[in-house]
Parts: sequence; structure tokens; C-alpha cells
Amino acid sequence: MHTIAEAAAALAGRERILVFTGAGISTESGIPDFRGPNGVWKKVDPKNFTLRHYVQNPDFRRQRWERWFGAQRPTHRPNAAHRAVAQLWSTGRMIGCITQNIDGLHVDGGLPESALAEVHGNPRGIMCVDQGHPSKVAEVRERWQAGELDPRCDCGSILKSTVIMFGENLPPAATYLAYQFSTSADAAIAVGSTISVFPAAEYLLSVADRRHPLVILNMGPTDADELATARLEGKAGDLLPQLISALQAQAGG
Ligand code: NAD
Repeated sequence: MHTIAEAAAALAGRERILVFTGAGISTESGIPDFRGPNGVWKKVDPKNFTLRHYVQNPDFRRQRWERWFGAQRPTHRPNAAHRAVAQLWSTGRMIGCITQNIDGLHVDGGLPESALAEVHGNPRGIMCVDQGHPSKVAEVRERWQAGELDPRCDCGSILKSTVIMFGENLPPAATYLAYQFSTSADAAIAVGSTISVFPAAEYLLSVADRRHPLVILNMGPTDADELATARLEGKAGDLLPQLISALQAQAGG
């Protein structure tokens, strides 16, 4: 394990840092990760989160809409780590952020959408499963509130949120942006991810493959630890703001 000073030193002089985030950056906002000690996969079966299951099960779809639009919907706020990513962006030393997260908290935390590749989708849109026709969230919410509990597209197709399910293609615009960030980066910081989900992890690993520095900040081991130039062990909300402050101090900012 390394210190904040060592991790910052590994990134010295780098002006196009890629930030790669996973579910662990949002656990301090109250959203469980998948594979951590309190991960979702310890309680629910990932097989239920496939596109096929969604399309074939009207009850499951009704549950998803209820969870999204219903009164019991939990609200989650960005934490210090999301704000630290936005802070790094504002210094001009970051090429962009690739997130596997589907919670939208990077945008809520102040990162512009143009700096963010949400490769597993986001909760800000709705589309139909057959043609990808977009629908407005506010309009579908109104229809749901008026009693349409399994709303349909004008073309008759089933609607779903733009959060990607297993078995679904990754969103082309986000993957294109992720490719651009990854190929232009001259360093990377991975935060709160086991770096085990592909193809998302490929964007990060390709930066290390080009022998650029890689800083990994995580609680627990990741699949890429042996590639790390520096490895920070601990909470993203504690350590990432410290690392970003150290980078700002380097730049005299
Ligand atoms: P993962 O569950 O495989 O790994 C998360 C890692 O973060 C674990 O090693 C865990 O120990 C660590 N961690 C937990 N809390 C942390 C903290 N406060 N600080 C630092 N590290 C912490 O997650 P992944 O690598 O992102 O991959 C799994 C998939 O999870 C992705 O495809 C993503 O779409 C999905 N997912 C997203 C959310 C979300 O949007 N918030 C939540 C659950 C799962």
C-alpha cells in the first residue's frame, strides 16, 4: 500500500488523467455495491437483472417502475468522492470520467455530462426495448401516476430506463466517449471498483498497457492491483479528496 503523497507523485506532470469509477464510490451515499462485503449479489440473484427477464415478466417491470416513480423511492446524494472528481475536472488536469455506475451521482456532484462516459447507462432517460425510441421521464411518470403501470412506447414496445441490464448493448455515445477518454489519457485513477467487469475495465487497463501511471483507490483487492503504480486502501470519501488536494498543491493551485 502507498501513501497519498506517493500516489500524487505517481501522477506528477500528468495533465490528461482518466478517472474510472465503480459502485464503491457510491456506497458512502447509501447505495450498496455488487461485490463488496454488503454487496447486492449477496441478497438478490443477478439473473433477474437481465433484459430477457424484464421483457418476459410484467410483474418485474411493474416493480421497477414502482421503485423508480413510487413514493418509497430512496433519495441518494453525491458524497465527498463524487465532489472530488468534479474538483479535479475543474483544475483542467482530467480528460474525463468513465463510470460503471448507474446512479447519476457524478452529474449531481457537479461533473458536466460532457466529461462523463456512463458506460452502463444512467437513470435520466427512458427508451423502448425494440427500437430505442426515447421517451421523456416526466411524461412517462405522469402516465404511470395516472395508472399506466407498465407503460408502452408509441410504437407499442415495452419501455425501460436507460440503465443497462445484463444482455443489453452498451450505449454507443457513452462507449465512444469512453474510448476517446481512454485513448487520450496519460494517467488513470480507479476508484471503488473491483476492475472485474468487462468490457468497462478494458478502458482503464488500456491506459496502464500504454505504461501510463495507474493509481487504484479501493477498499479491498481488485483484479488490477499488480498493474498499479500506487495502491490506496480505504474509503473513497476520505482518500479521494486528499489525493485531489495533493494534486492541486503540486500544480500550485
Ligand atoms: P463492485 O461491486 O464489483 O466493486 C466495488 C468495490 O468497491 C469493492 O471492492 C468494494 O469493497 C469497494 N468499496 C465499497 N465501498 C467503498 C468505499 N467507500 N471506498 C472505496 N472502495 C469501496 O463494483 P464495480 O467494480 O463497479 O462493478 C460492478 C457493477 O456494479 C458495475 O457494472 C455497475 O454498473 C454496478 N453497480 C452500480 C451501482 C451504482 O450505480 N452505484 C451499484 C451497484 C452495482
